[in-house]
Amino acid sequence: MPLPSIQPDPEILDHRRSTVEFATAKPDIALLPLGATEQHGAHLPCGTDTFAVDYLADEIARRLPVWRLPTIPITVSHMHRGSPGSVWITNTTLIAVVKDIVLSLRSQGVSRVVIVNGHGGNFVVRPIIQDLNRDYLDVHVMLLEPVVRESPFTEPPGSIHAGESETSRLLHIAPALVRMDRAVSTDVPYSQSFLLYAPIADLEPSGVWGHAADATAEKGRLYEERLIAAAVEAIPATFAAIDRIVGQSSR
Ligand SMILES: [Zn+2]
Repeated sequence: MPLPSIQPDPEILDHRRSTVEFATAKPDIALLPLGATEQHGAHLPCGTDTFAVDYLADEIARRLPVWRLPTIPITVSHMHRGSPGSVWITNTTLIAVVKDIVLSLRSQGVSRVVIVNGHGGNFVVRPIIQDLNRDYLDVHVMLLEPVVRESPFTEPPGSIHAGESETSRLLHIAPALVRMDRAVSTDVPYSQSFLLYAPIADLEPSGVWGHAADATAEKGRLYEERLIAAAVEAIPATFAAIDRIVGQSSR
């Protein structure tokens, strides 16, 4: 029986195409999505970050002429150690993986790489990008940080994990994977920085950091619509600004 999820998509340049099509398309911009495989409370799948960043990367790739790379599904999730279903690589490994991928893209003529980070625990992504841009002047690497205006979510700022935001997004993207009957809301009395000191299971045993019970598919739909629009605007604008700044630089 064929795999039902693998279908051609003429709107997206990705690894479903052959080398012949890449040779013709000669993509100059690549999108590298970073997902995660880690607990997201009792109500969301462990692949939540991966599914959400897959969705965003696909929607960007439908709207901009980019090479959409496969998502890296396992990244720095050791802040979920002790929670079954969570698996991680270290910061050091992620640095090496992203660097190797960027350099292999550079060797075939890609001069712009967008890191689409779907996992807040990848703190190391910023220094990786800073180092690559310092060391390789013929490839520009940007961190996609779209600013979503008018957020539909009402949970307190700092609600960073498996709360109203992520749950609403999954209700829109993959409703069959969400168990709203298990959704809880928590107010964790720590900032995100406490993940530098302890795993999330020690800070909040439910593994939820936010108001998951307030999530709805409609909020998720609104958010995704605004996120995609902001991302599609941010990518060309950021590269244009980088070109301007680098063009004037003497360093
Ligand atoms: Zn997440």
